[in-house]
Amino acid sequence: MRRLEPLIFEISKPGRKAYSLPALEVEKKPMSEYLPAGELRTTPAELPEVSEVDVVRHFTRLSQLNHGVDIGFYPLGSCTMKYNPKINEEAANLPGFTDIHPYAPEETVQGALQLMYELQEYLAEIAGMDKVSLQPAAGAHGELTGIHIIRAYHKSRNEAARTKILIPDSAHGTNPASGVLAGFQTVQIPSDSRGGVDIEALEKVMDETVAGLMLTNPNTLGLFDENIEKIQEIVHKKGGLLYYDGANANAIMGIARPGDMGFDVLHFNLHKTFSTPHGGGGPGSGPVAVKKELAQFLPVPVVEFDGQKYYLNYDVPNTVGRMKSFYGNFLVMVKAYAYIRSLGPDGLREASQDAVLNANYILRRILEYYDLPYDRHCKHEFVVSPQRIKKETGCHTMDISKRLLDYGVHPPTNYFPLIVDEAIMVEPTETESKETLDYFADALIAIAKEAYSNPEMLHKAPHTTVVGRLDEAGAAKNPRIRWQKGM
Ligand SMILES: *Cc1c(COP(=O)(O)O)cnc(C)c1O
Repeated sequence: MRRLEPLIFEISKPGRKAYSLPALEVEKKPMSEYLPAGELRTTPAELPEVSEVDVVRHFTRLSQLNHGVDIGFYPLGSCTMKYNPKINEEAANLPGFTDIHPYAPEETVQGALQLMYELQEYLAEIAGMDKVSLQPAAGAHGELTGIHIIRAYHKSRNEAARTKILIPDSAHGTNPASGVLAGFQTVQIPSDSRGGVDIEALEKVMDETVAGLMLTNPNTLGLFDENIEKIQEIVHKKGGLLYYDGANANAIMGIARPGDMGFDVLHFNLHKTFSTPHGGGGPGSGPVAVKKELAQFLPVPVVEFDGQKYYLNYDVPNTVGRMKSFYGNFLVMVKAYAYIRSLGPDGLREASQDAVLNANYILRRILEYYDLPYDRHCKHEFVVSPQRIKKETGCHTMDISKRLLDYGVHPPTNYFPLIVDEAIMVEPTETESKETLDYFADALIAIAKEAYSNPEMLHKAPHTTVVGRLDEAGAAKNPRIRWQKGM
């Protein structure tokens, strides 16, 4: 258990300083000589006044109040919060990578371009696709890029009347959002009794007004859609394209390839599958991969190799344009590259196998207490529901997750996917030891028992964290993320 310190925040003392500078050697002129009078502040800035050690302790303490993957287990389903090896950070901190300028002449940044080119090649191989753009900054951004590519493809064939994108009801919220942002109408496809796409429903809506289908496979239930060949046939036969949401690629690396399943375009989340920091920890990267027929629509520039040198190709005939300033989040690419190179094909495959094994291990351990809506083996994550606990004790998923904080574990994803009532979505990832998996399963079992013996205590959890139950909607809508005097 971590030592909990009171949340001391106001440590400013008038006149205290964190710097000591030598005396000025030049003449000090009033600011009005540099700036017009209207631009000058009339009252002091009211910044906190603190010593250096105050600053260090303040931020170190704050960093420890938050849960992170470097502090403890983080089984947040769909987010793949795997451990990011620190060697990747070291690679991304090499001055040859950090000190280059986006406008540097190509011949002076051949190493960086080579890294990007090779990363494109590796991702294409892992995806079973032909060509990659590293530009998008996140998964959702990759989706938007991919949907624009689908739109450009239909337009080039004079089929602009395709106005719909099909999306299963188990999909991540970014899928419909991307479809709508790209100007499409989204149509929801129900799931069948095994948690996959309902084939009959798909056949009914698939016609010449549909541009494509967006699918996550394995989906957000952690279930592989066994009908994928049938699904791609139905969509392709009517002239539609298939978009693969690669957020769950941690289940399939080196085992199955979306390109082989019949998908035409996809994104990867480097910050999920390829071990780069996530959320508050750093920017993301959502490369898009396409089959060769779609390469003419990729965003520019694409990194190419002419046999002698690497270069930025702006000459892509039917490009959807630029999706991001410059070339994407380059240092994230360096980390993903280091990760892929250090694991190699066998290592990546083993990572996925272990991710799947770990998820199934926890699932089987907790099934006596938690209900499984679709009784199948899972892939890298699973969704359970505390139906019995809720009925017999009045405790909800929220209570169970809040109580997990007292056990020092980040809660799983809650209430998603929407098609499972009281969903608890667990993704352990491959980087956890058996001891950690057992600790987590034991904690979930202990909490299930607590629900029966002391439901009130669960309703009031967490009990050991610095803050208790927060107004989560308020925190998201009106975040106060900086210090302001007097607040
Ligand atoms: C995380 C996720 C996304 C969105 O990716 P971001 O990188 O967060 O934009 C899309 N689909 C699924 C299934 C996801 O888990």
